[in-house]
Amino acid sequence: MSAEPDTASGAYDAPHLARNRANFAALTPLHFLARAAAVYPDKTAVIHHGRHYPYREFDARCRRFADALRRRGVRAGDTVAVLAPNVPALLEAHYAVPMAGAVLNALNYRLDARSIAFILRHGGARLLIADREFAALVHDALREYGRDMPLVEIADGDTGPALGGTAYEDFLREGDPQAEWSPPADEWAAIALNYTSGTTGNPKGVVYHHRGAALNALGNAVTFGLDRHSVYLWTLPMFHCNGWTYTWAVTAVAGTHVCLRRVEPAAIFAAIAEHRVTHLCGAPIVLNMLVHAPESAKRRFDHIVGAATGGAAPPSSVIAAMERLGFRVTHLYGLTESYGPATVCAWQQEWGDLPLAERAGKMARQGVQYPTLDRQRVADPATLEDVPPDGATIGELMLRSNTLMQGYLKNPAATEEAFAGGWFHTGDLAVMHADGYVEIKDRAKDIIISGGENISSIEIEEVLYRHPAVMEAAVVARLDATWGETPCAFVTLKSDVGAVSEADIITFCRANLAHYKAPRHVIFGPLPKTSTGKIQKYALREQAKGTQ
Ligand code: ADP
Repeated sequence: MSAEPDTASGAYDAPHLARNRANFAALTPLHFLARAAAVYPDKTAVIHHGRHYPYREFDARCRRFADALRRRGVRAGDTVAVLAPNVPALLEAHYAVPMAGAVLNALNYRLDARSIAFILRHGGARLLIADREFAALVHDALREYGRDMPLVEIADGDTGPALGGTAYEDFLREGDPQAEWSPPADEWAAIALNYTSGTTGNPKGVVYHHRGAALNALGNAVTFGLDRHSVYLWTLPMFHCNGWTYTWAVTAVAGTHVCLRRVEPAAIFAAIAEHRVTHLCGAPIVLNMLVHAPESAKRRFDHIVGAATGGAAPPSSVIAAMERLGFRVTHLYGLTESYGPATVCAWQQEWGDLPLAERAGKMARQGVQYPTLDRQRVADPATLEDVPPDGATIGELMLRSNTLMQGYLKNPAATEEAFAGGWFHTGDLAVMHADGYVEIKDRAKDIIISGGENISSIEIEEVLYRHPAVMEAAVVARLDATWGETPCAFVTLKSDVGAVSEADIITFCRANLAHYKAPRHVIFGPLPKTSTGKIQKYALREQAKGTQ
C-alpha cells in the first residue's frame, strides 16, 4: 500500500529550509566589479582622455582607494563626499567608498557654495574628494561650512589650481591594491546619499541601500540591453542618482565605461565614432543639443547607438530627430528616490510599422514598470483608488519597489509623507492608458489650472517642439485675473530661422490644441537649466510674474 501524501501544511516552513550562509548573501553591486575583474581581467573597463585601463586595474585601484579610506580612519556608516565631473575617480568612488563600508555622497557641482556647505554639514562627510576644476567652489563652500576637512584633489590635466589636499593618485598609493574588503553584512546597509535639487527650501538627502542599487543596476542592464560588448559613454552626470545606477550596471555586464568631463556635442560625437560607443544616457535637453549641434561637430557613425533619456519628458520631435541621426531612443522615467529609472516605455513590435511621428508619440509616454519594480499605479492621492485606464483621468503616479530609497536622511516627517499609505508618492500627475502605459502630464506643482481646467504644460511643449522654428520650449502658469492661471510659453528659436512673432507661435498652438490650452503669452530667449538638464520652471514662473 502506498503511503498517503503528507498533506500537513507548514512543510515549507521547516527550520532546515531557512536561509543560511551558503544560500543567502546580501545583494550588493560591489560583487559586479570583483566578478568582471576575475572573468575579464584584460578587458577595457575605463577609457578617459585616450587612456584605457582594464578590469584588473580598475579593481586594483578601487581596492587601493577603499584601503586608503580605511587607513585615513573612514569607518562603516561614515559619509565620503565627491565633487567631480565624470572622471574615473568618481566612478571608482562608487566601488571604493562602499567597499570601505562607507556611504558615497556624490555632489552636484552646479550647486552654489551655500548648498554644498549645507550638504557637507547635513550629510556629515568625513572626507571630501574634489576636482581642481571646482577649486573656487570648494574654498567658498568650506568657508561657508566653517570647518576644514580632509581633502583629496583630482588633478586631471590642467583644469584648475591646486586645492592644498592630497593628490588623488598619491592617495591611491596609500592603499594596498590587494586589500581585502567585505560586502555589507546586511543588504539594507546604506551605499549612497543623493540630494534632491531642493528647488524649494533645503535639499533632501535620499539614502540608497546596497540591495536597491544592485537590483536597479540589473534592471538597467536588462532594460537597455547592455552586455559585455557594450561601450557606455558618460554623458549623464554620475552625481545624478549615481548616474541612474549605470555606474554599477555597466560593470555588471563587464562593459566599457567611457568617461567624459564635459557634455559637449563635438566631444560626444568624437567619442561615439572613436570608441564605437553603443549606449549613452541623457536628459532630453542633451539629446536636443546633439540634434542641433553644428554640422562641424557632428560625426558620422555606421552603427546604432542606444540613447536612454529621462529626467524630463522628451518631446516626440526630439525622439524622431534622434532616430534620424542614427540613435535608437529608449524613454525612461524615475526620480532620485527610485534610484533613477523606474519605468520604461517598453517597445512593442507593431510600433515599427507606424509612421515616425506616430511612433515617436507612443515612445514619448513614460510606459511600464522596470522588471525590478514591484508595481506602479496611477491613483487618487487621497483615496488611493486607481484612476480608470482611459488615458484621460489624471491621478498621481505611485510606486512600490525594492528599488525605492530607505528614506530621507534625518527627516522622518518627509519620509513618512512620501510613503503614506504604503506607496511612494512621486508628485507626478499622470494618466493610465488602456494598454497599461503611463503618461505623465506634469509635476503636481507645474500643472496649469485655467478656469478650473487642468492644462498639462508637457502637452503644450509637445506642440511647440513641432513648430519648425522652435529649438527649445517650456510652458509655465502665469497668474491671470479672469482665469486664475494661463499658459505662458518660453521659446528658444533655432539660429537659422527668420523672424517669428508671438502671434505666429500662438496661432500655431491654437491650430494644434484646444484653444484654452494655447499659450496667451510667448517670451523668446534662452531657457535656464539645471545641471541635470531640466528647465528651471520656477525661474520661468518668476519671469512670467515679472511681465505682469
Ligand atoms: P529633481 O527633483 O532634482 O528634478 P529628480 O531626478 O528626482 O530630480 O527628478 C525627478 C522628476 O523628474 C520626476 O518626479 C518627474 O517630474 C521628472 N521626470 C523624470 N523622468 C521623466 C520623464 N521621462 N518624463 C517626464 N518627467 C520626468
